[in-house]
Amino acid sequence: MTAEIIDGKAFAAGLRARVGQAAGLFQSVANRAAGLAVVLVGEDPASAVYVRSKGKATLEAGMASFEHRLPAGTPQEELVALVHRLNADPAVDGILVQLPLPPHIDENAIIAAIDPDKDVDGFHPINAGRLATGLPGFVPCTPLGCLMLLKDRLGDLSGLDAVVIGRSNIVGKPMAQLLIRESCTVTVAHSRTRDLPALVRRADIVVAAVGRPEMVKGDWIKPGATVIDVGINRVPAAEPGKTRLVGDVDFAGASQLAGAITPVPGGVGPMTIAVLLRNALVAAHRHAGVELTERL
Ligand code: NDP
Repeated sequence: MTAEIIDGKAFAAGLRARVGQAAGLFQSVANRAAGLAVVLVGEDPASAVYVRSKGKATLEAGMASFEHRLPAGTPQEELVALVHRLNADPAVDGILVQLPLPPHIDENAIIAAIDPDKDVDGFHPINAGRLATGLPGFVPCTPLGCLMLLKDRLGDLSGLDAVVIGRSNIVGKPMAQLLIRESCTVTVAHSRTRDLPALVRRADIVVAAVGRPEMVKGDWIKPGATVIDVGINRVPAAEPGKTRLVGDVDFAGASQLAGAITPVPGGVGPMTIAVLLRNALVAAHRHAGVELTERL
C-alpha cells in the first residue's frame, strides 16, 4: 500500500480563507476588526520568524495584529503588566505570548496571567481543565489542527485505537484529550514507555510529537493506519553544509504501510497558525456577543 499524503498546507489554506471570510462578516456586524496580540520577549531567531508569520497571517485574514517586542532582559513584572493591559484592552480578543521565554521568566506565571477567555493558545490551566472536563474553551492550536486533519480524512473516529507519542502540555496531552472526546481508545506513550513498537503496531491512529528525527520506524505502522507527524527536526542534508526538515516518523518507510500520512514539511506545521487565527476569531465572537455562523 502507498499512503495517501495528507496535505496540511492545502487544508490550512482553506481554513484561513474561511476565517478571512468570517472575519469580514464579524467586522461588519461588530464595527471593529477581531484583534490578536502577539508578545515576543528577546531575539530568539526561530521565535522572531514565528511571530512575524503570525502577524502577517493575522493581517491577511482581515484581523488586527498587535505586536509587542520586548528586550530579552525584560523583568517578569513588566511582562505581567503588559499581559494585564492586553487583558483589559477591548480591541484585543486573543493574546499569545511566544514561548520559550528567557530563563529568568516563569512561563507558568505568564500563562496564568492571561485572561483564559483571551488565551487563544489554550495553554492556561483553566482551558486545560475545560478541555479535560468537556467544557467549551480554547484548545492548543497544534493538536486541534491534527484533529481537524484526522476528522477530514476519517470522519467519525469513534472506537478507533489511537497512540499519542509525547505527553507535553502543548501537544501530547491536549491531543490525547481531544481523541478521548472523539471516543477513541487512547494510549499516551512517552520516554518511559516499554515496547513502543508494539503499541504503535496496534494503532489505527498514530500521532507522533516527540522531537526525535524519524524515531517511529516504518515497520511499526499497522497497515492502513493514519499517521500524523507533529515533529519538526532539522538534520544535515546530503549536500554538505545544508540542512533539511524531517518529522518524528520515518516517512519513506511508514508511507509503505500507512493508509494516510502527513509529510514534514507541509503537514501539521501549516495548521498551527491557521488554527490560531480560528481561535482568535472565535474569541472575538464571544467577546462581542456575535454568533459565529461559519463552521470553522
Ligand atoms: P516536548 O519536548 O515538550 O515533549 C516531547 C515528548 O516526547 C515528551 O513527552 C517525551 O517524554 C517524549 N519522548 C522523548 N523521547 C521519547 C522516546 N524515545 N520515546 C517515546 N517518547 C519520547 O516536545 P513538544 O511536545 O513541544 O514537541 C514535539 C515535537 O513537535 C517537536 O519536534 C516540536 O518541534 C514539534 N512541534 C511542532 C509544532 C507544529 O507543527 N506547529 C508545534 C509544537 C511542536 P517524557 O515526557 O517522558 O520526557
